Amino acid sequence: MRKKIVAGNWKMNCSLPEGKKLASEVIHMVEDEVQNDAQVILIPPFIHLTGIHNLIGSTKKVFLGAQNCHQHQSGAFTGEVSAAMLVSCGASHVILGHSERREYFGETDELLAEKVKFVLENSLTPIFCCGERLEVREAGGHEKLVTMQVEKALFGLSAEEIRKVVIAYEPVWAIGTGKTASAEQAQEMHAFIRNQIAAKYDQEVADSISILYGGSVKPDNAREIFSQPDVDGGLIGGASLKSRDFTNIVKAFD
Ligand code: PEP
Repeated sequence: MRKKIVAGNWKMNCSLPEGKKLASEVIHMVEDEVQNDAQVILIPPFIHLTGIHNLIGSTKKVFLGAQNCHQHQSGAFTGEVSAAMLVSCGASHVILGHSERREYFGETDELLAEKVKFVLENSLTPIFCCGERLEVREAGGHEKLVTMQVEKALFGLSAEEIRKVVIAYEPVWAIGTGKTASAEQAQEMHAFIRNQIAAKYDQEVADSISILYGGSVKPDNAREIFSQPDVDGGLIGGASLKSRDFTNIVKAFD
């Protein structure tokens, strides 16, 4: 059985008091209301990790993630944060290759391959993001592009390693735009990605990997998207900043 996951990417939002308030509301609502066994991952800015880890405490359903990390263990990389530092702050997951990192910070699939490997060596779970821009989809190139992203960043891993990766399919045209991919479009791409993994490794490995959908998921569309057979949850941006909306998205699995 694949893990169901709902991860909230706060991006560069919330002061520490705001973040603590949001996190404690989500933690309480999830504890009190959620009937399913989905993992809930809170992904605040780096500097809030420790404060939010303290709030999560020994809660069973809620985990902590970071939005990025550097590909080296330590050293003269001013302004960067390593995987080991994230672990020491209580993080269990880290987003790698979010489209905003690719677009604004020039992250390439080659760099992401290094980061994924390094993160796994540090016992963190990478949430590897892939997805096409609008013009690529309109030109019919989405499958080719996503294949390239997944091959370059992940296919250097052993079967044992890739099993530990979570993939997030996030069509760039749906991120923060209010334009969600249809449930059919999401299912089609998730099945496509899973087939690529099965062809490279085997079906059993492919079936063990959680593939999340990201792109304007809201409480009113989450149930339909999450009910698709190859969609194992969501990476949520905007709606993760509202505790009620985010919890209701988690409840879409109930
Ligand atoms: C994201 O940033 O990964 C994302 C999916 O954002 P939103 O839910 O706001 O589209």
